[in-house]
Parts: sequence; structure tokens; C-alpha cells
Amino acid sequence: MPDFICPVCHTELINLYCPKCEHRYYEEDGVTCLLPPKINEYSSYYFEIQRYNEIAKNGAEKYSGLEETRPFSRARLINELLATYDIKEVLNIGIGFGFIEDALHYTIDKCTSYDPCIEFIKYVKERHPSDKHIYVNGIAEALPFPDNSIGCMVCDSTFQSINNRMSFLYELGRVTCDKALILISIGYLWNYPRKPQDGFNIKNPEELKTLRRFLKEIGFEIQIRYRDSNEDAWVDKKSEGDYLWIIGKKETLQ
Ligand SMILES: [Zn+2]
Repeated sequence: MPDFICPVCHTELINLYCPKCEHRYYEEDGVTCLLPPKINEYSSYYFEIQRYNEIAKNGAEKYSGLEETRPFSRARLINELLATYDIKEVLNIGIGFGFIEDALHYTIDKCTSYDPCIEFIKYVKERHPSDKHIYVNGIAEALPFPDNSIGCMVCDSTFQSINNRMSFLYELGRVTCDKALILISIGYLWNYPRKPQDGFNIKNPEELKTLRRFLKEIGFEIQIRYRDSNEDAWVDKKSEGDYLWIIGKKETLQ
């Protein structure tokens, strides 16, 4: 795992202190807390994070959709794809209830779980406290990882909820290394927008085209595929599936 950098100014942190911003980040219950100090400057995040923290504190299992099969099927698929590309170290952006952590626990060497809600992280950490899990509290638009340091990034059903997706994509380009793999799943059959920023309309071909072009510009060759996560199968047409998957690699896909 690389050393952390300041998510605001990208200076290397010394014992979680940024000498440039003169801001001290901290650790809480084994979670490294690297939210930007003026989180309210990142628009509606502050209130949203507080809302999710309350959900997690008041019994996340009630909201976790454990009765649903879709998160399990997505997590299983991610596990399979990682095995295909022989990936053993993952950065998981937006961990939510920890489905990915559950699926990868026995197959991966190291998983860095990254989420803006510390209460969700604690909820998942209780299930997976081992050394191979690293827990970091931060936002997708300001990643505390050095340039070219991440070999694989998973972003499961998170992308559509990120406030500033363009900032996240720039960060994705910055932190991923030369041969990096990205796995992004985007739900598009739900009743979006559920949250104010859920504006990414995956059904709009123009928006998808822009995303595809940008990922290409930052060096990724991508496949876009559609999946019916209830049936656990790839489908030809998006009208038959509920998830769009972006599988990208910074080298020729094999
Ligand atoms: Zn700084």
C-alpha cells in the first residue's frame, strides 16, 4: 500500500500531517480519516455523509438489501474478473455495506476499502478486521493516493452517486498505474435520481460516449457490457439488463 498524500494539495503526509496545508488528518478505530478539511466546500457532501452515517449507526443491516441477490451477483462477478486478470490487490471505491469485501476476503491479498461514510466503514470493518483489509475515509473526488500507485480500482454501483464525476475521473487517471485495471458497474434501471447528484443518465448515448472518450484519453481501453444481475448473466441489449459494466485496462484488453 502506498503512503498517503494530502487529498487537497497532494503533498506526502508525515504521520497524517500535511506540512503544506498544515492540516492534521487522523485515525479513528483503525480507520485512516482523510476527508478534505473543508468538506462543506464539496457541495452537498457534508449532509449526505451525515445522513449515511446515521443510517449505518441505526442498523445498516436494515438498509443493506441483504434480501436482494443483485449485490451478491455483482460481487461474485468482480471476484471472477479479478481472478481472470490475476489481480491480488484492489482499491474499492464506495464500499457501502461491504459486499465486495465479503466476496474478496478469501481470494485477494490486499483490499483498500474507501468510502466517505466512516460509520459504513466501521460496519464493514467489524466483519473483516484482518491485516489484509485497509480502511480509508475520504471522497472519490480527492483521492489520498500518489500518482501511478493503484493497479486495480473497483467502483461497484457507486459512480452514478458521485457528486463531481469529472473530478473523480481525473483522479482515477492520476492514481492508476500503467497497466491498471478498472471495474465500474453502473445501475441504470432503478428510479434514479434517488439523490440530487444522481444525474448521470446512462441511457443517454451522448453521456456514455463522453465517458468512453474521456477514459480513452486517460489511457484506458474499455469494454462496455450489459448485465442482468438477477439472472447473473451478460446480455446483448441494455434493455434486458439492469447494470452497465465498464471493464478497462491501460493496455490492450485480453
Ligand atoms: Zn495538503
